[in-house]
Amino acid sequence: MAPPGAAEEEYVSGAQLIAEALKTQNIEYMFGIVGIPVTEIAIAAQAIGIKYIGMRNEQAACYAASAVGYLTGKPGICLVVSGPGLIHALGGMANANMNCWPLIVIGGSSDRNQEIMGAFQEFPQVEACRLYSKFSVRPSSLEAIPAVIEKAVRCSIYGRPGACYVDMPGDFVNLQVNKSSVKYVKCCLPPPVCTAEHSAVSEAASILAHSRQPLLIIGKGAAYSRAENSIRKLVDQCGLPFLPTPMGKGVVPDNHPNCVAAARSRALQHADVIILFGARLNWILHFGLPPRFRPDVKIIQVDICAEELGNNVRPAANLLGDINAVTEQLLEQLVLMEWKYPSYSEWWKGLREKMKSNEETSKALALQKSLPMNYYTVFHHVREVLPRDCVLVSEGANTMDIGRTMLPNYLPRHRLDAGTFGTMGVGLGFAIAAAVVAKDQTPEQRVICVEGDSAFGFSGMEVETICRYNLPVVIIVVNNNGIYSGLDADSWKEMLKSGEPTACAPPVCLLPNSHYEQIMSAFGGKGYFVKTPEELQNALKASLAEKQVPSLINVMINPQSDRKQQDFHWLTRSNM
Ligand code: ADP
Repeated sequence: MAPPGAAEEEYVSGAQLIAEALKTQNIEYMFGIVGIPVTEIAIAAQAIGIKYIGMRNEQAACYAASAVGYLTGKPGICLVVSGPGLIHALGGMANANMNCWPLIVIGGSSDRNQEIMGAFQEFPQVEACRLYSKFSVRPSSLEAIPAVIEKAVRCSIYGRPGACYVDMPGDFVNLQVNKSSVKYVKCCLPPPVCTAEHSAVSEAASILAHSRQPLLIIGKGAAYSRAENSIRKLVDQCGLPFLPTPMGKGVVPDNHPNCVAAARSRALQHADVIILFGARLNWILHFGLPPRFRPDVKIIQVDICAEELGNNVRPAANLLGDINAVTEQLLEQLVLMEWKYPSYSEWWKGLREKMKSNEETSKALALQKSLPMNYYTVFHHVREVLPRDCVLVSEGANTMDIGRTMLPNYLPRHRLDAGTFGTMGVGLGFAIAAAVVAKDQTPEQRVICVEGDSAFGFSGMEVETICRYNLPVVIIVVNNNGIYSGLDADSWKEMLKSGEPTACAPPVCLLPNSHYEQIMSAFGGKGYFVKTPEELQNALKASLAEKQVPSLINVMINPQSDRKQQDFHWLTRSNM
């Protein structure tokens, strides 16, 4: 409230200041769960034209906000209540930071005059968020709110993108200040585009030109930096083989003839020169070390983060800068050198042979007629019906790993999965984010969310959110009755005879034949329970034809279905 006698229009509340500051920074989407003390912030944000999506758990809200950051290059906002609300969001913050995605979490906190008194949901929130963010702060006054929001937005997108936290004491939310005392700031400038040192570019081009078995690795940093055109030009112009990481898929389409994903192990193991475009040498890339890589492999790292260069492997050349800009620099140099990698090399021949044999093995598994289906059969039949431009969200163990190899991506930033942190439970939040952005930017686009049954369980109640906002999402639950594997209904019954399930149910098991599709129908969406390839394709076609109603297809597969034999299943504990 404005002081007695003062003109109302000269005063502004903390909630309004936050909403206005976010709007000034061109923020479009806010996800969250309202309650004391943040409800007014959500209302003010919506009133000023920021889209507000109310979720069912702060963790899923935070995953959704971070996916908006990855998809649009501008941070999504996650609005949470104090204490437990903020703690639920920490998972999403950690996930965003690990993936290098911009995100801003705004957390309500207890009133300042009750601090250290055991206030309702009191918690040291700024300190708690420090470990999960690039920047964690509480504005010192209402007047400082616009500057703090600008700094949070700027930090989240400048340099290596990441998560930021802004703390909002409850008493700030409704407190009013005179507008004349507020330190208003403009929208921050877009992130500066930095190029690599000329000498490093020449060195890298020369190393590449002397390679016998070159390979490009395209990571999600390349997708985030919107380097699709320049990297595509490099691949085409120089005739280079490339391998996308899970979320690097689609920067250059998976069906490009130079994509060697089907010979991944061979390509990694024998390449003598590798250019890494926005991908870290972490567990996903087996740390860049033998036996998955040659001991003498020359690695050229392209990254925006100087501290990343040299992690685990000493690079042959460091190209510090924006991927798109650096790729253009490299192209320029290679054009001057008139260099092209020969398509008739032994390296290409070996890679093509390996791709062919691996593809044949997957195809044989996919065409098996036995029921219940295996993973390969499911994905083969999904692939036949999948729209080319859909956003694919995927999580689970085998569901995600096998799905990655079987479900193609043709466009950049069209795949969202468990990512660097291997987080289960991200799927529905990601799907909601992708669908909300699609509704605004590409209204015909569909979001297909392929979930393991265990992964779906982490955030299954977000189906209500999907139905409430009528989002164009098709969820496919690949149901094997468990985590990694499960029991069929008969074996489950048999097992129950031997004692209490807490004593004898295998820890990997979930309830057999669960009807997850009924969660969707409970909220007005369409649910399908399918057991055969024909039923699966019919359900998917019907779901895609139905533009207005979300759907969930529960696909029963063999609970013992597994992935095909791998060349390597060790060194890292994951098979990615
Ligand atoms: P992946 O999971 O696909 O292997 P990572 O998340 O490990 O990818 O790596 C992404 C990398 O991309 C990070 O090291 C990050 O610093 C980098 N990156 C993000 N944006 C840019 C950009 N615009 N230019 C260069 N590098 C970037």
